[in-house]
Amino acid sequence: MDFIRPRFYDDFLCIADRCTDNCCIGWEIDIDPVSLERFQNVQGEFGECLRSAIHKGEDVCTFAFGEGERCALLREDGLCELVLHEGEDSLCDICALHPRFFGWYNGRREAGLGLCCEEVCRLLFSDSSPLTFVASDISEEWEETCSDELLEYLTAARERIFLRLQDRSRSFGERLYACAVYVRQLQENIDSGEYRLPEMQEAAAQKADILPVVEALCSLWSNAESISAEWDAAAAQLYSRRYQLAESFGRFLADNSGELWRYEHIAVYFCYRYFLNGVFEGEIVSRFGVALMSVLAVMLFDCMYYSDGKLTEWQRILNLKLYSKQMEYSEDNLELAYDAVWDASELSPESIATCFV
Ligand code: SF4
Repeated sequence: MDFIRPRFYDDFLCIADRCTDNCCIGWEIDIDPVSLERFQNVQGEFGECLRSAIHKGEDVCTFAFGEGERCALLREDGLCELVLHEGEDSLCDICALHPRFFGWYNGRREAGLGLCCEEVCRLLFSDSSPLTFVASDISEEWEETCSDELLEYLTAARERIFLRLQDRSRSFGERLYACAVYVRQLQENIDSGEYRLPEMQEAAAQKADILPVVEALCSLWSNAESISAEWDAAAAQLYSRRYQLAESFGRFLADNSGELWRYEHIAVYFCYRYFLNGVFEGEIVSRFGVALMSVLAVMLFDCMYYSDGKLTEWQRILNLKLYSKQMEYSEDNLELAYDAVWDASELSPESIATCFV
């Protein structure tokens, strides 16, 4: 089986007690049945302590919350009691795998690291050269889950999209717009059952007023499930400053021309994570739309915190992480965003792309 992952995937190591945002706080952690059985057999005083930290829910067991919604096994210093007593290998599946994500497409497994983690955001921003992916062969059983023909079609199309997104001889807006038009063409071909790969066209976009797009984005967020008070405050601030942001966005883009590779990485990364999922339903416009929506959202937050011509690397990481946690780590919110790409004309890929022209 082919195993694909971003170039920095193998470098990832959780920074544990050095993380400002421990992912063992505020999230309910489901314990898989195999780990649960193992936990029942842990001996001694720690075994008792471990079992008392397990909450038995109706369908699934989770780690109980301590004060401040901290996992009951998380120490004050940010280290995990389970790892300290039983070693890394004792972790349940979710703790061992987070923040990794996987997609299975017939004989291919695509993996990545979620941007909800500040260390992953740091790694993403650690190299300005075009983001690449590595492949290796692994032995893993697989079964057919999707149409091979469509999978091949979308994989080849995604390659072309990556190439255009990373073509730095063109302006950023031009690249996004050409890809938006291309994805629409691909969708038409899929709908008519004609898997012919179109050429990427030279598409000239007109600069559009960004305010209606920002307002549509804020309206989408106001209907989303809230993941954190921090997000609520940042989104409310962005809404209240929308007129000012709409005015200063062009200047931010121009001032940050040397930093556009970061947004290119975000576009490629979201596209990598979501585009091929379209193989299951034969729908890709919303997948690509969410990638562009995410680039715009993160850039708006960056623009909001841009002050005196400066924005720290750390603030960029915080903005990306906050956005990812809110929109990617709630299935309902992600679905809402997919729907909005079709339902709100301001949030179509073409419309969002024109904001960057
Ligand atoms: S957010 Fe990332 S670095 Fe922080 S504790 Fe979780 S996995 Fe580790």
